[in-house]
Amino acid sequence: MENVKHLWQKPLPRRKFLGLSAAAAGGAALLGRLTPLTGVPRAEAADQSEEKIIPTSCVHNCGGRCYLRAHVRDNVVVRFSSDQEGPDSPELPQARACLRGRAQRQRLYHPDRLKYPMKRVGKRGEGKFERISWEEALDTIARELTRIRDTYGNEAIYLNYATGIYGQISQAWITPAFGGALKRFFNMFGGFLEYYNTYSTACYSFTAPYTYGSVEGVSPDNLLYSKLIVLFADNTAETRLGGANYHYYLRQAKEKGARIIVVDPRYTDTAANVADEWIPIRPTTDNALLAALAYVIIMENLHDQAFLDKYCLGFDEEHMPPGVPPGNSYKSYVLGLGEDKTPKTPEWAEAITGVPRDTIIKLARQIATIKPCCLIQGWGWQRHAYGEQPVRGLPVLAAMTGNIGIKGGGPGLYYSGQGVSVAWMPAGENPVKAAIPCFMWTEAIERGHELTAADGVRGVDRLPTDIKVVWNYASNTLINQHADVNRTAQILVDETKCELIVVHDVFLTPSARFADILLPDVTHFEREDIVTFGSGIGYAIYYQKVVDPPHECRSVYWVCSELAKRLGFGDRYTEGKTEEDWLRYIVEETRKANPDFPTFEEFRRRGIYKVVPKEPIIPYKKQIEDPVNNPFKTPSGKIEIFSPRLWAMNKPKEIPAIPKYVPAWEGPEDPLREKYPLQCIGPHYKRRVHSTFDNVPWMEEAARQELWINPEDAAKRGIKNGDRVKVFNDRGATITYAKVTPRIMPGVVALPQGAWWTPGPDGVDTRGCINVLTKYHPTPLARGNPQHTNLVEVVKL
Ligand code: SF4
Repeated sequence: MENVKHLWQKPLPRRKFLGLSAAAAGGAALLGRLTPLTGVPRAEAADQSEEKIIPTSCVHNCGGRCYLRAHVRDNVVVRFSSDQEGPDSPELPQARACLRGRAQRQRLYHPDRLKYPMKRVGKRGEGKFERISWEEALDTIARELTRIRDTYGNEAIYLNYATGIYGQISQAWITPAFGGALKRFFNMFGGFLEYYNTYSTACYSFTAPYTYGSVEGVSPDNLLYSKLIVLFADNTAETRLGGANYHYYLRQAKEKGARIIVVDPRYTDTAANVADEWIPIRPTTDNALLAALAYVIIMENLHDQAFLDKYCLGFDEEHMPPGVPPGNSYKSYVLGLGEDKTPKTPEWAEAITGVPRDTIIKLARQIATIKPCCLIQGWGWQRHAYGEQPVRGLPVLAAMTGNIGIKGGGPGLYYSGQGVSVAWMPAGENPVKAAIPCFMWTEAIERGHELTAADGVRGVDRLPTDIKVVWNYASNTLINQHADVNRTAQILVDETKCELIVVHDVFLTPSARFADILLPDVTHFEREDIVTFGSGIGYAIYYQKVVDPPHECRSVYWVCSELAKRLGFGDRYTEGKTEEDWLRYIVEETRKANPDFPTFEEFRRRGIYKVVPKEPIIPYKKQIEDPVNNPFKTPSGKIEIFSPRLWAMNKPKEIPAIPKYVPAWEGPEDPLREKYPLQCIGPHYKRRVHSTFDNVPWMEEAARQELWINPEDAAKRGIKNGDRVKVFNDRGATITYAKVTPRIMPGVVALPQGAWWTPGPDGVDTRGCINVLTKYHPTPLARGNPQHTNLVEVVKL
């Protein structure tokens, strides 16, 4: 920690804060009049009693955690402001909130907040509930958990994938590295079936280690040293919006003179904001482009042969592992000397990708000759049928151009960040060792007892049981965010399969409608916790309780404590501690490892703790500077362009040993295009964090749900901008508005993911939920989520 400066959020001078407060109160009042909302106390209605500013945060899964300041009068939040201190420089950016964080009042005071515990009275999924007491809810859950555990074993209990809330106590995302109240409870109850992977990054995090042995991206401040930045499927202007997040650094790099190129089917907000050039490409065809770029670089002798010879395995025939027949190196594949006898020329790639040959040649020359060049892969292109391939494909270009291990360059992966390490509420060990890929939980409900290591099960050879309990805390993955909503609904309505579904959330989300027992959660403004975040800088935020919880809303720690009491381990679970006691413990533990971390009182009062690094992260620098003493963590110690581990799997069509273009099912070459001619992708949208904020009226005003469609495709269908349209395929149909725009390439439509599934009487979704169109078809290696691989048709209503 010697190379860092520690900086604190300073309290605003009182004069300044009163001035800002008055100005913003006027703004809030205006918005209040524009969008009257019965549940939201109006700012102008608050009395003139003293306004308190309470440090808090925004804690959903956007990839950031921004600092919020709640302005409170008489136990009412009259507005939120954000980080305003410091120079807002790359060394100390302000962790400013985006439009979503600033709209949190409408979420906090939404009239649809869940108020009481409820039990299902209709069929599962119908959404019919009856109010019950907390006593009845907790007694029922304790009884059912015990019955199911005793009948099927703890492996039948599944904590569903969830990212709605982050916090060192109230963490919803359960992974081995994290602790928290929920995990602690189920570990003490005898364990639960774990998951691995994420819905966002399965192919990325699973596959990149086959190339590098680890996953190390550049910190975004590294971009400030780049002369060329090429973003593949990376839309930071919508996905990394916070003031200290990646898009801030892209803007800074742009201002310092870097040339920025965006490769994406859409002219994204990022392209509009920072790009010198936009290269549209058909979804699922990225590896055809990457191979053609390599072809040009090789044919023009622009590659760094010395780098490849020294650090890489499998680029050419001279650097292959023993025992592999000739023709299997990457160079042989690119030049057409391998099995397919097809040179990956720019003309070949143009026919597949839709990127003109001259554009490919120009891009290849820029990547090969402008140095340092930082190639960044977003996560969009790996949520595809063969999402593993681009993850391994881009690092080859980084190696061919010798950009790995140098400042301003990069390994062709995603970003990483500096981070601040903070202790967790201890969760202990999970006695259950079995884990499944998170995308496969519905399959584990249907045929868990058949799933083996060959299906991706970890920790055991075969699952001993199907899933019988789903605990769904702060998650909309139970239905909305999982592939093929109609298939999932069919599985969940059958009570003989999954026997108990508990949902603990703030709203009656589409997922909550499938609960047997529904528990009203507090928002994170109604309890205390700590969150961390790392980008160019790292920081930790203490979020204080801002207002009292409404009605009978209860925190996850309270729920788990009460259940533990009923199940006979209450004292062991709580150790007699309140939530504040645990937060004190967390800060104490953190200070043992990092004495510079503030005391509990100081941290709680200040709200935010920032750590500013002097140098950016340059991944694999040690390996490049001293490869003998710092080999890559691959079996060969090299960058494995050819992976002997993948070769040994002997599935070359779907899991090739070198990164290849594998034509996707429901891709541009699928004969199904006769029936469904449009490729449909589901990008992230600035109005939501996944499905969070979908019910916030200000977000609806700012950016309504729309299907992006090119004017050419719209004209063929008689569709005009703003028309209501139906988007459909064999899996389902949804209705939304058309946004007719040249910002998306012909043949592709985009329906932003996260809209709440709202089926009409005919079963057709009425709100633009893309997951009625997506397919449950795990990717072949990582078993990830292929969300952007869908063929559809669109008609005007
Ligand atoms: S949604 Fe993300 S970027 Fe926006 S305020 Fe919240 S944490 Fe920050």
